[in-house]
Amino acid sequence: MTFEEIKALDEQYVMHSYGRFQVAIDHGKGATLWDVNGREYIDFTSGIGVCSLGYADEGWQKAIAAQTAKLGHISNLFYTEPYAKAAQKLCTRTGMSNAMFANSGAEANEAMIKLARKYSYDKYGKGRGTVITLHNSFHGRTITTLAATGQDKFHDYFFPFTEGFRYADANNLDSVEEVAGHDVCAVMMELVQGEGGVLPLDEKFVQDVADLCKKRDWLLLIDEVQTGVGRTGTLFAFQQYGIEPDVVSFAKGIAGGLPFGGVMANEKCRNVFTPGTHGTTFGGNPVSAAAACYVLDTIDEDLLKQVKEKGAYIRAAVEEMDLPCLGQVRGLGMMLGVEIKGEKTNRELAAALIDNGLLCLTAGPGLRFLPPLVITREEIDKGLAILRGTLSQFKGV
Ligand SMILES: *Cc1c(COP(=O)(O)O)cnc(C)c1O
Repeated sequence: MTFEEIKALDEQYVMHSYGRFQVAIDHGKGATLWDVNGREYIDFTSGIGVCSLGYADEGWQKAIAAQTAKLGHISNLFYTEPYAKAAQKLCTRTGMSNAMFANSGAEANEAMIKLARKYSYDKYGKGRGTVITLHNSFHGRTITTLAATGQDKFHDYFFPFTEGFRYADANNLDSVEEVAGHDVCAVMMELVQGEGGVLPLDEKFVQDVADLCKKRDWLLLIDEVQTGVGRTGTLFAFQQYGIEPDVVSFAKGIAGGLPFGGVMANEKCRNVFTPGTHGTTFGGNPVSAAAACYVLDTIDEDLLKQVKEKGAYIRAAVEEMDLPCLGQVRGLGMMLGVEIKGEKTNRELAAALIDNGLLCLTAGPGLRFLPPLVITREEIDKGLAILRGTLSQFKGV
């Protein structure tokens, strides 16, 4: 089908819940993609932080094909090897105790919130179900995770939202203490706020919140849906923050492109979920779990070191361009955000970049780069050349 044919079909039969860019992607290899007209693009998106190993990785294909040839699905009422192995790999590399799988980030966060509320209920009874989250956060699109999201623009249309959330300012411990009360059971936060604009939290603030959680027996819930699985240069971002979370959620990059997510808990929270208290039909599907095992084995210490190096390289290169329409670059590892200046919106700048062969994302008011972790130096340089060539024509303020 041509682009025009696909677009016409989509316009007629698909709900218009996305503002799509004018490209139909057909296939990819590494960090390079091709559209249906055969046009090439360098990918600084990984989907949205999902295709951690890029496109058409051979080992990933084999792991998935081998599992589909054996068992594509079985209910969670039975044991499977990929499920147990994926959980083992996550726990042994993070010091967490056990894991449970879901299909998406929002679902993983729902599980994390349910776990916190049950932990508190088991110990203290009713009336302690409030979760503190941060302004500018993003935790998902279900009714409850929208309520958890600390951005007013997400609290529209879909009333009534789930109760039991209060919002504090990031990097401001006083603000956390101000909203705290006897009804709190947990604090939930991203360590680098992704959708909010790629805003890394201060280490001191995060450690202070961790201390406060310990003191009050609140659970420390870390949403690593975007920061997890190597994105920031360690397997999980919390490993760079000197904290020991009670529960960590993950999704996006974990299975390299198949739907997968979940939570892992520490020893204290090992037995909060008991048979029948939480579940999912698809979560932990053996094919996705086999893909996750392959992704986790591939993201070894050597690859993590490269993530740090490549992230620093891209960051320095963008700073050096000193383009009038770009401001500060921030982030961690290969999760980078760039402020923008001038009359063009981030969406307009992203569209111009895509027109010229570089896929990138927006976050908050700025641009966001989440390249596949395996992107080559050559692909990075091609992408940076497109960035420089495209954005140098736009004026600043
Ligand atoms: C993307 C994202 C989510 C939601 O994940 P879905 O898979 O889209 O449900 C939740 N939290 C964070 C930090 C995210 O980046």
